[in-house]
Amino acid sequence: MKAAVYMGPGKIEVKEVETPKPKAGEVLLKIHACAVCGTDVRIFYHGQKNVVPPHITGHEFAGSIAEIGPGVTGFKKGDKVTSVTCVGCQKCLYCKKGLYNLCDTPRYLGYYYPGAFAEYMIIPKEAIDGGNLLKAPGSLSFPAITMVEPLSCVINGQDYLKVQKGDFAVVIGAGPIGCMHAEIAKASGAKTVVLFDVSESRLELAKRFDGLVLVNSAKEEPVKKVMDMTGGCGADVIVVACGVNAAQEQAVAMAAKLARISLFASLPKDNPFIKLDANIVHYKEVSVYGAFASYKKQYEKALSLIAEKKIQAEKFITHTYPLKDIVTAFETSKKGTGLKTVVTME
Ligand SMILES: [Zn+2]
Ligand SMILES: [Zn+2]
Repeated sequence: MKAAVYMGPGKIEVKEVETPKPKAGEVLLKIHACAVCGTDVRIFYHGQKNVVPPHITGHEFAGSIAEIGPGVTGFKKGDKVTSVTCVGCQKCLYCKKGLYNLCDTPRYLGYYYPGAFAEYMIIPKEAIDGGNLLKAPGSLSFPAITMVEPLSCVINGQDYLKVQKGDFAVVIGAGPIGCMHAEIAKASGAKTVVLFDVSESRLELAKRFDGLVLVNSAKEEPVKKVMDMTGGCGADVIVVACGVNAAQEQAVAMAAKLARISLFASLPKDNPFIKLDANIVHYKEVSVYGAFASYKKQYEKALSLIAEKKIQAEKFITHTYPLKDIVTAFETSKKGTGLKTVVTME
């Protein structure tokens, strides 16, 4: 099979490698498409300690079942599938609750296990046993299925926020994840969704989504803007989808009474601190949540939101490249001039 083999920072070779055979308990997938995640790009440029070259990355994939190893039940050849990325240990407190994303010793497809920037990929026995492999409705296109993983992470963030009908929602950061947050908030019944970004080109891209209020936060101060728009009440739901310390502080400052805030993006490792006005949290009864990756229930929710067309998955894809052009795909993703970039194997 053809695979994009990561050989160390800045080095990737698209070449012929041996097609894996599924052993007992494993499933072999034919990969049709795999979207580029920010972490794939970071690994390519900078490496990562738990990704040991030579290795195949890629975890936002859409495949079909090519071959089923002995002992696997519930699937048949040709089923359209994707998978929960995080393979839990099944022993820790969090795995027992089904929260593989919080596993004490997690192993990820595309990081620890070989991933999907290849024509075929093995789903390991631990993932099959853990129920990670998910069937997708036949009506979904392969590119649409690649959006399930990033959407599931966004749903994990918003599960805490409990967006109500009529809520005033704010998303800070209009990258692909920010746009997904805006769309999920809208689908959950928010009456107004304001999307802030400092980049005019990002806001331009977000115009493809109907009904969002797009504001350039370099030109209009976000807290003042939200207070003006809400008659001084503030926003009910705020998602910070950019790794900017000041944006997290703004989120607290623009909160309404009983607001829910998601600090969705991580901050720079060397400066993960913010100045939090704890009295706003106290007097306004504001809730502040974190979110990391996602678990099975949220993948299933993402699949049904796409199948019901409440989320138009293909709208998030602005660039598509064949596997041989994977470096261009990474470069495109890094530049941030589009939303999601997808690599196709056919
Ligand atoms: Zn991802
Ligand atoms: Zn665990």
